[in-house]
Amino acid sequence: MPKALITGITGQDGSYLSELLLEKGYEVHGIIRRVALEDPQHHLSRINHIADDLALHPASMESFPSMFSVIRSVQPDECYHLAAQSFVATSFQDAFSTLNTNINGTHYILAALHDLQPECRFYFAGSSEMFGKVAESPQTELTRFHPRSPYGISKVAGYDLTRNYREAYGMHASSGILFNHESPRRGFEFITRKISSHVARIKLGQLDHVAIGNLDSKRDWGHSREYVRGMWMMLQQDEPDDYVIATGETHSIRELCELAFSHVGLNWEDYVRIDERFLRPAEVDLLVGDATKAREQLGWANEITFEDLIREMVDADLELYRNDPNPPGIT
Ligand code: NDP
Repeated sequence: MPKALITGITGQDGSYLSELLLEKGYEVHGIIRRVALEDPQHHLSRINHIADDLALHPASMESFPSMFSVIRSVQPDECYHLAAQSFVATSFQDAFSTLNTNINGTHYILAALHDLQPECRFYFAGSSEMFGKVAESPQTELTRFHPRSPYGISKVAGYDLTRNYREAYGMHASSGILFNHESPRRGFEFITRKISSHVARIKLGQLDHVAIGNLDSKRDWGHSREYVRGMWMMLQQDEPDDYVIATGETHSIRELCELAFSHVGLNWEDYVRIDERFLRPAEVDLLVGDATKAREQLGWANEITFEDLIREMVDADLELYRNDPNPPGIT
């Protein structure tokens, strides 16, 4: 039975990836960090339904010895490194810890694998935010990086570290350059989930508006369940490489609002307020990816449309807030 180790297993992608790997017959191990208020309903909410089938190991991305010790005890065949401070806005507010966790964490895990388990296949969670101020559209594996946030900078560094371990030590280390991907498990601070949860609560009479910074930003949004399949496919290749995973379609936040509100029979203009506090110091205006290489070499494809994704998220939030206006663990 192959063994997989996932960092960031409690996050959106970690939960879908765990389900996929369990279905495929893997022994799935995950790293979790201890938090002061250990409330499993919240911290483990995305993986509670499969927790009995997972082996969870306490460790910290800030500590090389803790990563070393988990890798020594698990001896994974595949390692999916998803843990990161993943919210761009927070990376401006707390750049030092974002850079520390995202860059050093990636380096610690690569170094520990190199010392202990050099044959382990490694996946790094790169991001379209590495393109930032885009040099061309759509963006491919060859497009120049110009990150516009500490988060984007940290991901470029992680990407370069991954490539360097591949080239210098011959490790099977690959990076996915994943464009935005969402689901009903997305964190509430991200724009898609912010809108889907507010639309649900407005419809249910629990809120009267949603405040948004920039309606004109355009993103390429796919479904997390389909994107984690791309991660797994990358590690099944004979040779390590880097791949863009994207839908190739772009939509503005204005379109996202229109779609989400109209799904519950409301007019978005009656409820959306512009609030400049949500603007980023440096904006990324347009991201749209070209996943031709992943389609041709991995056989990866996406099927869930943007419309179906947003409707699924709004429906899930209607269900969540209808049952309880203050669901456990949600602030
Ligand atoms: P989430 O924010 O949902 O999950 C992040 C995970 O990282 C959580 O399990 C979190 O643990 C863990 N983590 C964060 N900081 C630390 C730390 N200091 N030590 C240990 N664990 C930590 O992200 P996603 O699942 O959406 O994304 C997965 C990865 O893919 C991330 O690296 C993200 O940057 C990247 N990515 C995501 C995209 C997207 O659109 N979703 C697009 C491109 C890249 P905890 O539960 O304890 O907070």
